[in-house]
Amino acid sequence: MNVHDSERMAGLLEQAGYEPTDQAGDADVVVINTCSVRERAEDKLYTRLGELRQLAAEQGHDPIVAVAGCVAQQEGEAILKRSPGVADVIVGTQAIRRLPMLVAQAAAERRAVVDLDPYDDVTFPLGVTRRADPLKAYVTIIEGCNEFCSFCVVPYTRGNERMRPLADILAEVRDAAGTGHREVQLLGQIVNHYAAPDDPSCDFSGLLEAVHAIDGVERIRFASPHPRHVSPRFLRTMARLPKVCRHLHLPVQSGSTRVLEAMRRRYTRDGYLDLIAQIRATLPDVALSTDMIIGFPGESEADFEDTMTLTAAVRYHSMFSFKYSPRPRTLAEQRLADDVPEEDKTRRIVALQALQRDIQSGLNEALVGRTVDVLVDAASRRRDTELSGRTSTNVVVNLPGPAGWIGRTLPVRVERAGPHSVWGRRTESGAQAPR
Ligand code: SF4
Repeated sequence: MNVHDSERMAGLLEQAGYEPTDQAGDADVVVINTCSVRERAEDKLYTRLGELRQLAAEQGHDPIVAVAGCVAQQEGEAILKRSPGVADVIVGTQAIRRLPMLVAQAAAERRAVVDLDPYDDVTFPLGVTRRADPLKAYVTIIEGCNEFCSFCVVPYTRGNERMRPLADILAEVRDAAGTGHREVQLLGQIVNHYAAPDDPSCDFSGLLEAVHAIDGVERIRFASPHPRHVSPRFLRTMARLPKVCRHLHLPVQSGSTRVLEAMRRRYTRDGYLDLIAQIRATLPDVALSTDMIIGFPGESEADFEDTMTLTAAVRYHSMFSFKYSPRPRTLAEQRLADDVPEEDKTRRIVALQALQRDIQSGLNEALVGRTVDVLVDAASRRRDTELSGRTSTNVVVNLPGPAGWIGRTLPVRVERAGPHSVWGRRTESGAQAPR
């Protein structure tokens, strides 16, 4: 979602006459788009502001600096106090459409301006977004969240849940497909809670069907669904629509019912495992991924063991795991002591990541000798002669081939596997599994 906000802000600045540069030393405007989901992400803002201050001191170059995103919303004027003389614009999460005006105002008045007001941010002018990827388009369907999980800062930084009209979403998907974007990723804090404000009969399943019907869209992804809103209808819809990728990112956060309750996740370990069984029955070829928080307040060794056994039982294709850090204003920060010692958090996350690595290696190994369809999306970062792409199940596949293959979906026979990606060669035979 933050990446997509950056694409939107880049488009707004281009419309105002700016052009992109990759050198801060050349820039007239620098926008730092921030994340506050973890403490370390937040700290990066101040590191970056320090670098810009140094650049100004060394080179006499003093661009307008705007801070956007969740830290801007959360900290507001405090950023100006903590890093005096560096930031000129603080723009909140619901005010990004005003960025060019705020930049102009800061430049004209030579003073810092702050705008954290909650504007309408579910509509966004069509064609302005400067998409960073020529093949994949992010399309927002929901802003904000009402769930208030006890560890999460999102409801405070992005506000209450707001649904984007179906007509706006479909217009943006058509526009993206028309500019060659073959893959669409629908974005929202809880995508499967979608209910179209302009069409009472359209839920997330209906939205998937409507996007599926758009010519030029080859693959549909979404992030993220919430386990408690996964319905049989949604699973059946996914199974029926071939363009919907066989990948479900289903954040679990902990394997312990006790911890899940303290997190206010509103499902239990057993309920989640039952849901996984339902998913596997309806979508046998689906790849699952998740988010896990380690060291949440009160997490005992037994709770952590529950996380390990759940991970081993589900066998996720990938996992984002984080050590808990208290986030401002959240229920956990205000009511629960951050009482798991740092060394225990570290020991547990190392053990979890080792288990997950073994599981991923095994799942990727199982692809060796099989042919998979790969949407080739980039030159590999490892070697010049290599390309990379993804399967429908979101496995990264590296293959030798010319740059002209980028943008094509090709059958690739997998020859070897690692924990994070597999390697293969283009073949003429069709895909065997997974799609
Ligand atoms: Fe945060 Fe997701 Fe919970 Fe909403 S559902 S509060 S975004 S963790």
